[in-house]
Amino acid sequence: MKLQHHRCRLSPAPAAVPELGLGKERPMTFWEIREPGGSDYKHVHVSGKLEHPYRLPEVECEKCGASVSSYYDVVLPFECPASFREDGLLKGADTVVSFYSFTKLVKQIAAKLPRGAGSRLKPEACLQPGFLDVPSVPKDDFLWSNLWSGLDSMVVSERVRHVIEDLAPVGIEFFPVAFRRVGSRRSESAPRMPASGEPEDMMQNFKTAKAVPSVPAYFQLLVSAEADCPPGAEPGQVCKLCGEEKNPDWAARDKAWKNLTAGLMASLSKGLDLFRIPQRGTVFVSDRVKTAMEGIGATNVCFRAFPPEPMKVPKRKSKLRL
Ligand SMILES: [Zn+2]
Repeated sequence: MKLQHHRCRLSPAPAAVPELGLGKERPMTFWEIREPGGSDYKHVHVSGKLEHPYRLPEVECEKCGASVSSYYDVVLPFECPASFREDGLLKGADTVVSFYSFTKLVKQIAAKLPRGAGSRLKPEACLQPGFLDVPSVPKDDFLWSNLWSGLDSMVVSERVRHVIEDLAPVGIEFFPVAFRRVGSRRSESAPRMPASGEPEDMMQNFKTAKAVPSVPAYFQLLVSAEADCPPGAEPGQVCKLCGEEKNPDWAARDKAWKNLTAGLMASLSKGLDLFRIPQRGTVFVSDRVKTAMEGIGATNVCFRAFPPEPMKVPKRKSKLRL
């Protein structure tokens, strides 16, 4: 598995905010929330790897033939019911089922989950628990522990959770992370490079602490709040059975995202303070959230002013699956 190089190399200068007269509103600025720059070794040493072993299967629609997928990994705040933990459909990697079989499975699982959970059980969504293995004893406020995509799984400390709950309660959930293996080293020490040179190999080779180290509580930050699509990027016609878009106009969509300005973003954000960009998954925060994070001195996080560069909509890999 390859680490995604999504981290910012340098903390950018904040966007200039013009001097404003009395009564004028300060323009809204949004920030992409990211892992600070650093080596992949440091990344693995500090953040480790979060594994969600219970994942709903992929779906291939029997009506339109599409692989039904989200634009980003979806992790839900629901525990996999005990009776499904040995289920091959949830445990097998790359399990593909028809839409009909998926609907049947979802019905059975939803019967064991809180009311309203069923509609959120989408193909390839992950259930809890999530197990964290990390070569050092976690200390930072942010851990970037999801090596699948590097985008979806922020793991945060309790104090960050409180800040976010106060400022951005809509479409945000937290779920405690289960520590499985914790290394004996300090997170601020230099990472130990594996003989192979592959950062991922650090996960097999690290020395587990003899005595269970006292690790503070950490929570996975689950963001389902989404901004609206910019004009031109709205989804077109969808399959009546699976809901997958029939013929996405990628060129029009790319253009719409490229032309996205800070002003337009403000109107698409629906007043949210922490949200995802649809069709992409990137997590953005408002000035309020950034300022609050800086106020508590949150560590292992950086903010990149929006828009940093023209945005590209990645084509979903499942569309190209052979
Ligand atoms: Zn379909």
